[in-house]
Amino acid sequence: MSARLVLLGSKGGPAIRPGGPWPTSSLLEIAGRRIVIDCGLGVTRGLTDAGMSLKALDMIVVTHLHSDHVLELGPLIHTAWTAGLADLVRVFGPAGTRACWQGFLQSMAFDIDIRIVDEGRPDLRRLVDVVEFSDGEVFSQDGLTVSALRVDHPPVTDCFALRFDHAEGTVVFSSDTAYFPPLADFASGADILVHEAMLAAGVDRLVARTGNGARLKEHLLASHTFAEQAGAIAEAAGVGRLVLHHLIPADDPEVSQADWITAARKSWPGALTVASDGLVVEFADDSSV
Ligand SMILES: [Zn+2]
Ligand SMILES: [Zn+2]
Repeated sequence: MSARLVLLGSKGGPAIRPGGPWPTSSLLEIAGRRIVIDCGLGVTRGLTDAGMSLKALDMIVVTHLHSDHVLELGPLIHTAWTAGLADLVRVFGPAGTRACWQGFLQSMAFDIDIRIVDEGRPDLRRLVDVVEFSDGEVFSQDGLTVSALRVDHPPVTDCFALRFDHAEGTVVFSSDTAYFPPLADFASGADILVHEAMLAAGVDRLVARTGNGARLKEHLLASHTFAEQAGAIAEAAGVGRLVLHHLIPADDPEVSQADWITAARKSWPGALTVASDGLVVEFADDSSV
């Protein structure tokens, strides 16, 4: 298994619309592991569409507890359990992740208990180990190191960019953040930087469509990064490839891939990928969109 990244869900924000893309989740295959990064709605479908057996679920990392990153955490693990999961799953997330998992278990206690008795399944509660992390090293084993950097995503304070280092390659995820220059140091020399991105032209139309106007716009501008700013981070970090992910807006018919490319190209001349659901990014690939 060579290293690859699959963008399962590529839109920013939790709302979905007919025919549109799905909230944020990614699959990183590296160091012989399959690592799920964020669990927005649709992550389970995304993983199976990517050809992954849910029994192989091993490690999940959640960047923050906004619903477009965590809504399907419990349902993913529960579904893997009904698919035959037998080995421990490790879930890494910020403070509050354990309570989120415990709340899910409580909500499904009837079903879990009945399947243990009726179908002879192992106790789901003992198949999951939740580790809450903060800044610094999150995990290190067999040549794979995962580290975290707190980013700027008000009003959420526990929101972390992630860096995965291994001999097969280095990948950095920005998570959700306003333009945050320290990310350039954190992502320095990475093969792939997966950065959230927003397009100025689409924000006003998105706000008008969603219906809570000024307040939503205020949140978007304070908490997210424009594509040209993501390009500036990639340029300062000297990464091998920039992937624009967590797109805002993601399902505006007036916004095309060319608009994202034009915006990022203002500051980033290197290899560039604009995320879409199910898109595979190979580490060795040096092509551009
Ligand atoms: Zn988000
Ligand atoms: Zn968020």
